[in-house]
Amino acid sequence: MAEPVITGGCLCGRVRYELSGPPLDMGTCHCRNCQRWSGSPFHSSVAFALTDLRFTRSQPVWYESSSIMERGFCPGCGSPLAFRYLVSIEDPPTANPGTVWISVGSLDEPEIRSPDWHFGVEGQLSWVKFDDGLPRTRCDESLGLTKAYASWGADQPES
Ligand SMILES: [Zn+2]
Ligand SMILES: [Zn+2]
Repeated sequence: MAEPVITGGCLCGRVRYELSGPPLDMGTCHCRNCQRWSGSPFHSSVAFALTDLRFTRSQPVWYESSSIMERGFCPGCGSPLAFRYLVSIEDPPTANPGTVWISVGSLDEPEIRSPDWHFGVEGQLSWVKFDDGLPRTRCDESLGLTKAYASWGADQPES
C-alpha cells in the first residue's frame, strides 16, 4: 500500500510540496545559523528521502549557507522550507545529500511526529527550556560535522 502523501508549503502558497515517503528522523536545532535562517530561537525539522520530495507549484530558491549546506525558501514570502546537506556527514547518517529536512512549521499538519534530539545546543537561548529528556549535542561534538568542516573548509559551524 502506498504511503499517504504528506503536504505542505510556504506562507503565501507559491511553493507547495508533496512527500510520498515516511519521515525518517526529526530534531530541533539551536545553532546560530538555524536561528538566523528561521528568525526564531530554534528550528525543528523532519527528514525525508530527497527522492520522496516533489514541488507542485513554484520551486524554492536554494541558498548555500556554507560549503556543506543549502537552504530553500520561498522567493515570494521568504518562508524557510527545507535544508539539505551537500556532503555526507555520516554522524548522524541522516545528514547526507540524499535526505531533505523539511521545516516542521511548513507542513499542512505539523503534528507529524515528535523530535528525537536537540542539536547545536551551544546556541540555545537561556530562556528556552525543554523538559523532554532528549539527547542534547553541541555542533562541535559531532565528529562527522567536524570532519566535514575540516575537509570542505566550512568557515563556521552549522548543523
Ligand atoms: Zn511563499
Ligand atoms: Zn542548525
